[in-house]
Amino acid sequence: MTIACLDLEGVLVPEIWINVAQRTGIDALRATTRDIPDYDELMQQRLRILDENQLGLPDVQSVIAEMGPLEGAKDFLDWLKSEFQVVILSDTFYEFAAPLMKQLDYPTLFCHQLETDPGSGKIINYHLRQKDQKREAVKAFHSLNFKTIAAGDSYNDTTMLGEANAGILFCPPDNVIAEFPQFPVTRNYEEMKAAFENASSKF
Ligand SMILES: [Mg+2]
Repeated sequence: MTIACLDLEGVLVPEIWINVAQRTGIDALRATTRDIPDYDELMQQRLRILDENQLGLPDVQSVIAEMGPLEGAKDFLDWLKSEFQVVILSDTFYEFAAPLMKQLDYPTLFCHQLETDPGSGKIINYHLRQKDQKREAVKAFHSLNFKTIAAGDSYNDTTMLGEANAGILFCPPDNVIAEFPQFPVTRNYEEMKAAFENASSKF
């Protein structure tokens, strides 16, 4: 039995922080793990910018509520679920992901949590499930005798892709392609579907 481990942002849904940046007009919030590979550095910067602009969790949630999955994402995920056990491994937060998960029929999601001041709604901290959780999840699946195929678009997926029995890049930026030439590159859902089929045929 094989588990398909899928990144969320950039694979099934748009980048949440980029959407928040567009809607609020705060360009500094456009930075993602594509720009700053150190996740803690990136998150501390995001929380600082939100605070400086007096934006709380309800403001961010109102943006996310208007986002939908990428075109074709739901159909791809439905196909993937028919072939594999699917777990989404994401560096987003349950508080952000909830409205998007509803539109994807509530797939299993492992991600992080935010800490919010209940009075003001200010996001005061974030709590990672564990360090390098995507990779640790794949290791745990292996310890349960599952094989794994992982797909993601960015730096924060590369340890997961490396740990999995097979790794697939989906619409990655050029610097990730250059740095990780060992992973096949797919640019649409048909290509990613073919890459999953190809990987599983070799097990
Ligand atoms: Mg991503």
